[in-house]
Amino acid sequence: MIKLSEIDSNYYYEGNDLGYSFNDDVHTFKVWSPLATEVKLCIYNHYDTKTNTTYKMEKNEVGVWQVFIREDINGKYYNFLVNIDGVNNEVVDPYARALSINGEKGAIIKIEQSNPEGWFDHKISKITKPTDACIYELHIRDLSIDNNSGIKNKGKFLGICQENTISNEGVKTGLSHIKDLGVTHVQLLPIFDYGSVDERKSSLMSEYENSNDYNWGYDPINYNAPEGSYSTNPYNPINRIKELKTAIKTLHENGLGVIMDVVYNHMLDVNKSSFDKLMPGYYFRYDEEGVLCNESGCGNAIASENKMVRKFIVDSVKFWATEYKLDGFRFDLMGLLDVQTMNEIKKELYKINPAIIILGEGWNMGNSLQDTEKAIQLNAYKLRDIAFFNDDIRDTLRGSYCDLKEKGFLNGANNLELKVKKGIVGGINYSNNIITWGEVEPNQVVNYIECHDNNTLYDRLKINEQDEDKIKYMSRLGMSIILLSQGIPFIHAGQEFLRTKYGVENSYKSNDSINKLDWKTKYNNMDTVKYCKGLIKLRKNCSAFRMETSEEIRQSLRFIAAPNNAVAYIIEKENSYGQFNKIIVIHNANTNSIKINTNINLDWKVVVNKYKSGIETLKVNSGSKFIIEGLETLVAYN
Ligand code: CA
Repeated sequence: MIKLSEIDSNYYYEGNDLGYSFNDDVHTFKVWSPLATEVKLCIYNHYDTKTNTTYKMEKNEVGVWQVFIREDINGKYYNFLVNIDGVNNEVVDPYARALSINGEKGAIIKIEQSNPEGWFDHKISKITKPTDACIYELHIRDLSIDNNSGIKNKGKFLGICQENTISNEGVKTGLSHIKDLGVTHVQLLPIFDYGSVDERKSSLMSEYENSNDYNWGYDPINYNAPEGSYSTNPYNPINRIKELKTAIKTLHENGLGVIMDVVYNHMLDVNKSSFDKLMPGYYFRYDEEGVLCNESGCGNAIASENKMVRKFIVDSVKFWATEYKLDGFRFDLMGLLDVQTMNEIKKELYKINPAIIILGEGWNMGNSLQDTEKAIQLNAYKLRDIAFFNDDIRDTLRGSYCDLKEKGFLNGANNLELKVKKGIVGGINYSNNIITWGEVEPNQVVNYIECHDNNTLYDRLKINEQDEDKIKYMSRLGMSIILLSQGIPFIHAGQEFLRTKYGVENSYKSNDSINKLDWKTKYNNMDTVKYCKGLIKLRKNCSAFRMETSEEIRQSLRFIAAPNNAVAYIIEKENSYGQFNKIIVIHNANTNSIKINTNINLDWKVVVNKYKSGIETLKVNSGSKFIIEGLETLVAYN
């Protein structure tokens, strides 16, 4: 009998050929299952049939079972029948790259048949540094499902590709809206095969559009193939791959990078997972009494520290980056993964594309790993070039997610200036009293105020404020702080038009009326959309807001005296930032106006005020003194 503790030393498999591959008319299947006494390959002619043809597999010395088939089985389906301790379980290949409906079987396809026309030589996004990115977080279905989106393939991968669409009111929707806003990367909520939406119900467009079968998708079933409900025909295994690639290609051609949200920290259900049937007790974390750890809050946690688990995760990310030409990965609950796994992922991804962006949720959760081994914020210095969501700035601006009534800097809480400054400098070690995560660089900090989790900023502000005008200007102030801070800015789709989820915080399975991007809301808030667009334009045009090193930030950015509940700073350096010689930024969270003296007598060109933002001069402020309105961000340069 093999002990679990001996698995990593005696049964580690190095090969890069697990799963299904096809070469020289030979179909090869390989699966790792060292405890099994017998493994058979089951080939099905049809996705729904129960009858199959089985093939005996041979085991090698480290527990990899393999079989080579020379018959023509292209277009058929497969599973593995695994016998451990006399018990037979049929499992889907965890490495399966194509799937039947609902991911019940692996599909035997030639993956090159899934390439849309021009796939190999299409242009990819031009961004080379994470600090030049501006990330836009989006759920595939939310973008287009609104009746008013003007988009044909509503809620599908193809819905994200349709260009030049408008709403009944005439505002740009879908891809055209995203492009117009000027963001650089779209970050897609889970697009791998998840389990909470019935793909059979999604195949008829009329049923799909009216379905309440909605989910964010943080419930992985199969890691290496796309979710079927986003395809126009989930019964055809090639279709979902081709349509996702078409979406990625179209986004690339429109100058947008694509970041994939990956969930390697837990799965939908251990009992439904192939992992535990292939190697019981190995892929998930258990406590001393043998009970599954629930560090993820989702019932289980994947044991990334085990060598074959780590290998699976690294192989999986590599596969997506290569086959789908992705520009980045966002790791859900990254703090549950270990430092070594994340660094191996980084090493492999940089070989594929040195401009790839890696970000994650570095919250400190669970106790299976020592704190020193976790991929958490405090270990950022061990995870160079990997970025962490900055929940400090989020909570500082809007109040803690734990207490919905708590106010933040934007809506009247006091004594938060220092914390806002920590966000502005991008979480670096700036000075004796502005320290966040220690020795980190600006490309390791993702500043945000709203994401799919928790209330939208609008809903959160609405809890304490009923005046719509005030909510609008508080939101703009928040957007300004995020988009002008050092680090990587991140916005949630619809944040630019004051998106509401009607007070629903955890809308992971709420229906479209809560989750959809409502294009009427955009129409009603066009002035704020333009404001957000202007801030993005300013950021893109002025590298002072996108400094690459902590050293440059320490040298070029200095805070100046400001009244309570306001923060002011000047950015300047010897060689200047092009036309932007000196830049002043003032954020005033007071509802009344304030005065700031810069002590620098110049003709300051104001480009951002309470009402407008961008790179055009709104007015010239001569002298050293500024008056800033209540709830205003002012940016001026000379
Ligand atoms: Ca699915």
